[in-house]
Amino acid sequence: MMPLEKMIENLGFKEAWREVTKALSIGIERAFQDSQTLMCIQPHIDDTDVAAGGTIAKLVEEGKKIIYVTMTDGRLGTSDPELWPEKLAAIRRKEQEKAAEILGVSELVWLNYRDGELTPSLKAREELIHLIRKYRPDMIITVDPWLTYEAHPDHVATGLLASQAALFASFPHVAPGDLRDNLKPHQVKFIAYYWTRRPNTYIDITGYIEKKLEAVKAHESQFKSTWLQFEQLLKAYSRLMGKKIDVKYAEAFKVLKPIHLHSNIFSEDI
Ligand SMILES: [Zn+2]
Repeated sequence: MMPLEKMIENLGFKEAWREVTKALSIGIERAFQDSQTLMCIQPHIDDTDVAAGGTIAKLVEEGKKIIYVTMTDGRLGTSDPELWPEKLAAIRRKEQEKAAEILGVSELVWLNYRDGELTPSLKAREELIHLIRKYRPDMIITVDPWLTYEAHPDHVATGLLASQAALFASFPHVAPGDLRDNLKPHQVKFIAYYWTRRPNTYIDITGYIEKKLEAVKAHESQFKSTWLQFEQLLKAYSRLMGKKIDVKYAEAFKVLKPIHLHSNIFSEDI
């Protein structure tokens, strides 16, 4: 390949910017195909199923290994003051187990931080680094913590923690206790963000929309009373994303590599 400087030598600024961004994006378009083990790090029970359930069903069918890591216990997800938070947390865990079974996800990890109180702490980051070294995913799927106007602290914290862990898991002197436990540093290849304003990857889920809806519906405590409206909303959203790649239903992600997660002025445009 031609050296980057030579490539942009005779171009104007805008074209040169585009060329550099393109060069840094190589491999992104095949990220899902090239990943065998994928770890979904979600703020709450149900987030992955709602945002990426079709993609997960498709990946499972392709024989990929999927691990769900849920950061919080989901104890706040109700408008019913009579429903005790611990009881709700237990109900929601069962619902996630059922949804995972529908999608074919067999590995569920619970970090049990209190719903609504997650912060990007060193402790939580090191727990995720530990899990990345244990399960050795090629890709991490999580929520985009830089979504404009996102106010939910668990979502912002989860996206940040997952990004930091993806960046640091390959450094042997980070969380060195893992090495004493015989876990080796691990380099994640990709990180895919859902609920993002800057998607660069669209997955055709036309054949998986029914399975996705079935999995989301399993979260009865969250969606039972408003299911018909929510189902319509999910279908409309997938239909909208499908228009981008000329299919009926799609899910959208922004996929980056770890090198894009630090001091990289092109990441937003990738
Ligand atoms: Zn959530």
